[in-house]
Amino acid sequence: MSEKMFKRKDLQAYLYPEALLHNVKTLKSCCRDNVKFCAVVKANAYGHGISEVVDILKNAEVDFFAVANIYEAFYITEKIDTQQILVFEPLHSGLLPEEIVQCAQLDIHGTITSSEAAEYVSLVLNEQQVKLKVHINIDTGMGRCGVSVSDAKQLVELVCNSKSMELAGIYTHFANADEKDLSFAKEQLDSFKKVLKTIDKFIDEKVIIHVANSSATMRLPDAHFDMVCCGISIYGYSTIEKPLPVALRPALRLEVPIIHITTIEKDQTVSYGRTFTAKRKTKIAVLPIGYSDGFWRFFSNNVTLIVNNKPTPVIGRVTMNQMVIDVTDIADVQPGALVTVIDDKYDSPCGVYTLAKLSKTICYEILTNIPPWANVIIAK
Ligand SMILES: *Cc1c(COP(=O)(O)O)cnc(C)c1O
Repeated sequence: MSEKMFKRKDLQAYLYPEALLHNVKTLKSCCRDNVKFCAVVKANAYGHGISEVVDILKNAEVDFFAVANIYEAFYITEKIDTQQILVFEPLHSGLLPEEIVQCAQLDIHGTITSSEAAEYVSLVLNEQQVKLKVHINIDTGMGRCGVSVSDAKQLVELVCNSKSMELAGIYTHFANADEKDLSFAKEQLDSFKKVLKTIDKFIDEKVIIHVANSSATMRLPDAHFDMVCCGISIYGYSTIEKPLPVALRPALRLEVPIIHITTIEKDQTVSYGRTFTAKRKTKIAVLPIGYSDGFWRFFSNNVTLIVNNKPTPVIGRVTMNQMVIDVTDIADVQPGALVTVIDDKYDSPCGVYTLAKLSKTICYEILTNIPPWANVIIAK
């Protein structure tokens, strides 16, 4: 593993292996027996700690780990035993030749979405004794990365005719498989199947066809093909309408200790901008977490946390490194007492869904906002 990372012991991210394992098992039970499972661990495993999550899941019948970029792939290569690593971001000519060589040597599966990228990889690996395994991403409607449906066949041919690459996978990505109306997802699926027909002769049993993200894994069995790639659902969340078709469990809770307690008088104000005025004599507690730790300034005067199982409001502005809660009604609270900032219960006032709804975003963004310096603690 690379250089020592900066960690803060007081930002305690309790990670529940049982929940992760339960979610993987549950998602696998949505699939036919021979469908491979790819655990998506990009973005520091959706904020849960990539290192810890990989360690937990590598013993859980996971066939692949998917990451966003080659640097995340390099970071976890030493941890992986029989699993393979897939990088979603397309390889491109802005990467250094040695980075491409390293991918090939480490047997990392890369994504190719253009002939320029394919030619660059061929050129770089020309003199090398290694082949790079590549997956071709076809854009059937996502409108982001991916070779167009009309150029897909030509790109597959280019890869298959190259001495430096081996076709290892074909995929596409859904734009809205989490929405109520699945008609566009089905259109994407149809257009993907049409392309598959045209490249049939290049596809042997070693080529993995994969399409399904979490939503499609739970809702579109027709999209499972050879492998499903689940991200958000392995951490216990989803953006599809509740109740979910399967029961998932949240895998993380974030806690911080109270660092200071004091009492302010009626009419005194709290924090920058004086946006909170005490209506009574108020016992306030300061937490060592602020917007630089991913707890948005938006939550100023606008969210409820949990202390000793009791709800307690954030008062005044969230600042860069600190914020304040009102603990007047909580007996026996001392510095060092732990406050739940992101809860592992769905209906909690600081649960991930609640925080997402409050801030008009999705659970993905709440989770990936957990900073990498949070100290991941494997909970029993
Ligand atoms: C991020 C990603 C996934 C996982 O999506 P979830 O909705 O988190 O399951 C799957 N496939 C691709 C290509 C992705 O980029």
